Amino acid sequence: MTLKRFQGYSYTMRFAIATLGCKVNQYDSETIREALVNDGNEELGFTDNCDLYIINTCTVTHRSDSDSRKLIRRALKTSDSARVIATGCKAVTDPGSLRDISPRVEVATPSKLASLLGLSFSGSITRFHHRSRAFVKIQQGCDNFCTYCIVPYARGKPRSRDIDEILQEIRQLNSNAYREIVLTGVNIGLHKLGLSYITKKILEQTRVERIRISSIEPWTFQESLLELVADEPRLCKHLHLPMQSASDRILESMARPYTARYFSDLVHGIHIASPDIAIGTDIIVGFPGEDDRAFQETLNMVESLPLAYLHVFPYSRRPGTKAYVFTPQVDELTKKKRVSILRKISQKKRRDFALGLMGRDMDVLVTGSESGMSTGITTNYQKVMLKGPVKKPGSIVNARITGLKSGRLQATI
Ligand code: SF4
Repeated sequence: MTLKRFQGYSYTMRFAIATLGCKVNQYDSETIREALVNDGNEELGFTDNCDLYIINTCTVTHRSDSDSRKLIRRALKTSDSARVIATGCKAVTDPGSLRDISPRVEVATPSKLASLLGLSFSGSITRFHHRSRAFVKIQQGCDNFCTYCIVPYARGKPRSRDIDEILQEIRQLNSNAYREIVLTGVNIGLHKLGLSYITKKILEQTRVERIRISSIEPWTFQESLLELVADEPRLCKHLHLPMQSASDRILESMARPYTARYFSDLVHGIHIASPDIAIGTDIIVGFPGEDDRAFQETLNMVESLPLAYLHVFPYSRRPGTKAYVFTPQVDELTKKKRVSILRKISQKKRRDFALGLMGRDMDVLVTGSESGMSTGITTNYQKVMLKGPVKKPGSIVNARITGLKSGRLQATI
């Protein structure tokens, strides 16, 4: 179906994909892209005139819903004859609202998309277009049902990807010059073999230079993983552990199975074992019932912990989740104020962490270029502008950290 046929001639279909949301969605888009390209079709930009637009939607917040709808409308406007297909999480949890945008919108859950396109997806990737780091999905789904989270409804129960498939995909990506891979999934700590076993296998059985662990839920963090992070130079000195709140009452109401004390001990333990590591966290502000005292507990905790950055989100009420009906809901103005307080703390933490690296020699993975200079990323997740000869994206160079400008480290090769 992908090659258009006209009087015995066939020509390629032009397509564009827009991806919203998390790394899992980005990985899924990559599998769609590869299947379409391998079938002889040509990828263009989203604002170009295409025969097919795919919007891989996200629904974790109100904003992701509205961004998904905007992109669908933009595709409809760009061409009045193209196919417009919406897939991803919103296509699972609320397909009706996407169909309501226009009768031209086709909606397919991720598992039905291949058959709608008349293709088969291999479920594996060999490249990651427009990126110098490749995401590798090691598992799907989550069954924790945190009371604010819509993801388990969209992504289903945990399913672990076969270890041999993961290893094969990483070898293939590495042979195509991807030198950093980011292990990703909906809740990667739920892989049935354990994340530290998977990481060890990748270290032993592939030559990939850098392995980065994306967000990992604190209660799934294994002691054995800490040893690897501390001792293994190929494992990036970077962990992202979502805390969400430091009020035990709010954590319980969120159905997060840990206490503030557990989280604090975990972060301190990691920091002692690996002092250079960048530890980041997510905080949800304004969850129902978060009063001044609960917010203050979170504030005190983030100030005291050795965190390199915070991702702060105002609580977004998702229909279908348990917390949707919780009371009292926090008003928007209070949420806004609390978000702003925490974001300021995050800026300071980022700056302090970056300043602590001055004068150090660090390996930097080149990710692109800007104003005639290469840009890159360190193992501990710092963005860097590189002074010296411009290097090819994907290469790893050793550079001396010399300054900090507009939130970005400056380094000399
Ligand atoms: S662990 Fe909680 S926040 Fe994370 S995907 Fe599962 S339900 Fe959502």
